[in-house]
Amino acid sequence: MGVWASQIPRIKASLSLSDSALAAVVLCFAVGAIVTMPLTGALATRLGGVRTVLAMGVAGAAGLALLGLAAGYSTLLGAALFAGMALGGLDVAMNTQATAVERAWDRPIMSGIHGWFSLGGLAGAAAGGALTGASLSIRTVLLIAAAVDLLATLGPARWLAVPGTHAASAPGFAWPRRAVLGIGLLCLLAFLIEGAVFDWTAVYMHEVAGASLGFASAGFGGFSLTMAATRFVGVVVPWHICCGDCEQCRAGLTASCLEARSACFGLPLGGHWGGLFSDLVRVPYADAMLVKLPYGLDPVLVASAGDNLTDAWISVRKGLARHPGGRVLVVGGTGSLPLYAVSHALALDAHSVDYVDQDEARRAVAKTLGATVHEHIAPDFTMQFHVVVSGTRDPAELKLAIQSAKPGGHVSGLAIYFQDIPMPLWEMYLRDVSFSTGRPSVRPHIPDVLEMVRGGKTHPEHVTSRIIAWDDAADALVEPSLKPIVVRPRAFAAGK
Ligand SMILES: [Zn+2]
Repeated sequence: MGVWASQIPRIKASLSLSDSALAAVVLCFAVGAIVTMPLTGALATRLGGVRTVLAMGVAGAAGLALLGLAAGYSTLLGAALFAGMALGGLDVAMNTQATAVERAWDRPIMSGIHGWFSLGGLAGAAAGGALTGASLSIRTVLLIAAAVDLLATLGPARWLAVPGTHAASAPGFAWPRRAVLGIGLLCLLAFLIEGAVFDWTAVYMHEVAGASLGFASAGFGGFSLTMAATRFVGVVVPWHICCGDCEQCRAGLTASCLEARSACFGLPLGGHWGGLFSDLVRVPYADAMLVKLPYGLDPVLVASAGDNLTDAWISVRKGLARHPGGRVLVVGGTGSLPLYAVSHALALDAHSVDYVDQDEARRAVAKTLGATVHEHIAPDFTMQFHVVVSGTRDPAELKLAIQSAKPGGHVSGLAIYFQDIPMPLWEMYLRDVSFSTGRPSVRPHIPDVLEMVRGGKTHPEHVTSRIIAWDDAADALVEPSLKPIVVRPRAFAAGK
C-alpha cells in the first residue's frame, strides 16, 4: 500500500491525468474494496482466517502487478478496481485473524499489531521513494512490491494459525448493533481523512509543494510514522499532579510539587482534574506527568502503577535499600497496598517475607505471592525483622509492628492516621529504629515498577480480585472486593 501511494503522482504524470481523472482511479480502488470487505467476513468463516489471509494476500500481489502492467487509462481503472477488491479483502482478513490472535494471546495487542501495519506503510513509502529516486520505472517498482507482498504472505503463513479458530460456525455477515453502527460512523470519518492522505499527499507534495517525485512519498511516510507512534504508546499517569520542574519535583518529592498545590485526581483539591470515575481526566504538565508504558506490557496488569502499586514499592525500597536481603514483616489492613508490598519485597530479593492479617482472603493472596502468613503479630516477632511495612490502622498493632523491628531497622507506615497516636519513641530511640510515612511521591518510581512487572518479578495480577467491564462498574463496585480493576474498551480496537 505504501509503495502504491508513493507511485500515484508518477502515474498521474506519465498518463497526463487531470485531478478528476486520477480521482476516478482512486474511486475504483475504493469501490473494489467496499465490494469485497463485507464478503471477506463470510469467506473467513468458510475457509478459516489463515486461508483467507493467504488468498487475499496473493490476490493483493496480483493487484499490485496489474497496476504496474496497466498500459493505458482504461486498463489502469480495471487494475485499480481489482487491486482495491484484493487489498480491501486483505485488510478485513488480517484484522479478523488479528482478533483471533489477540484473543488467544489473552492480552490487548491489537494496537501494537496496527502499529506494525503503519510501520509497514512507512517502509513501503520509503522504498517506493528510494526506487523512484533510483529512476526505476513505475512498472518495475510495482512488480517489486508485488513480489515482496507475495513473499510476505506465503512466508509467515504457517505461524498465523490459532488453535481452535479455523472455520467457525458463526454467520459471516450480521446486521450491526447500534453501538457498532456508532463506531462504524466514527471509522467512516477517520477513513475519509486517511483516504485523502493516502491518495493525495504524494500528489500534493509533488505538484503543489514542489517536492521531487522520489521525495513526494515522504508525506505518506510521515503520516505512517505518526500513526505507528500513537499505536505503540500507552501511558501511566501518577495520582498526584506535578510540574516536574520546581525545586520539590527536581528533588523527587513530586507529591509536594510547589506548582500543583496538593492537586490530585479524584479529589477536588487544587482544581478539578477529573479522575476516580470521571469520563475524562485533565493531565497538565504532560512531559512530567505521562510515563510511557513499556511496549507489550498489559495496561490492566499495571492499572495501579499510578498509585498503590508504586506506593508499596517506595515503602519496601526505603527499608531494603538500607538492609539488602533483609527479613521483611508486612502487616496487612489497608486492602491491596500491603499485598503489593509483599510482592515487591520478594522481587527485591528479601531474605523472607512474613505477612500478618486477620482477613483470610488477603492471607491467601499473600501466601500465593510467597509470604509466610500469620493471623496476629506473635510475641516472638520482637526485634526479628530488618524491614517492617505496616498497613494496619490500629495504633496498638502499629506499636507491635514497630517493636518487631531489629535494632537499626526501618518501619514504613502505609496506613493513614487522621489523628495523633502514641508512638513507642523511647524504644525506637534505644534501638535506633526509623519510621517513615507520607503522601507517596510516586512519579519518579513508576518506570522502575513497570520494569519489575514487565520482567515478571512483581506480580500484581495475584492481587487483582476482579476485572470489571466499564458498563458493569456501577453494580459491581457496590460489592466490596480487594482490588477491582475497571476496564473501558478502546473505541478503535477490535476484540476487546
Ligand atoms: Zn513541581
